[in-house]
Amino acid sequence: MFSFLTQYGFETNYLKAVLFDMDGVLFDSMRNHAEAWVQAVEKHGLQMTREMVYENEGRTGDGTINLLAEVQWRRKATPEECKAIYETKSRVFNSLPEALPMPGAAQLLRACKQAGLTVVLVTGSGQKSLLEKLEHAYPGIFTSEYMVTAFDVKYGKPHPEPYLMGLKKAGCSASEAIVVENAPLGIRAGRAAGIFTIGVNTGPLADAVLANAGANIVVGSMKELAECAAL
Ligand code: MG
Repeated sequence: MFSFLTQYGFETNYLKAVLFDMDGVLFDSMRNHAEAWVQAVEKHGLQMTREMVYENEGRTGDGTINLLAEVQWRRKATPEECKAIYETKSRVFNSLPEALPMPGAAQLLRACKQAGLTVVLVTGSGQKSLLEKLEHAYPGIFTSEYMVTAFDVKYGKPHPEPYLMGLKKAGCSASEAIVVENAPLGIRAGRAAGIFTIGVNTGPLADAVLANAGANIVVGSMKELAECAAL
């Protein structure tokens, strides 16, 4: 499992855990997030392009809102404003057709489990009933003890905190794990935590953006990664 990574300098003999990001990795959900952010911030007097949503994927809700507010309002958003905007964003997101599991993800997750690897979810998402959603799409893979969500962290990606917490939950060191990420800030977080990070380019950004964020390798899809990992 993952022995192809040796050619990129990763010692797979010691691999114990795979830390998976969620949006854009396990679910084909980034289009919905982009739509929801664009609509929500506009309703509250801010502007955000779809490309900005992809570039800033992984930040906490408050982090994203303040990024816009500091430039466009020349001040931070109040906690009340953050709450209102994030609620609108969640409402729009939940009104959109449900995102499907990412093709190839189920195959990769099952193979990780069969190989005895610990599978950990590391997401900035603060969605409710996340475990049920994961269980529905990927039965028997995820448990609450191996999940890091928005409720567990203070800083969020690109800070290393979420991935450091993922390592702690998995009970292994940085050299015994790999990260699977689609977002530039998520890749930066994985690398800042000292972990070998695979960039999976499932969105509209150029491969070079993921490589420049520090990805150890960049692959074109979860399907491609599942096929390489099985070799
Ligand atoms: Mg993602």
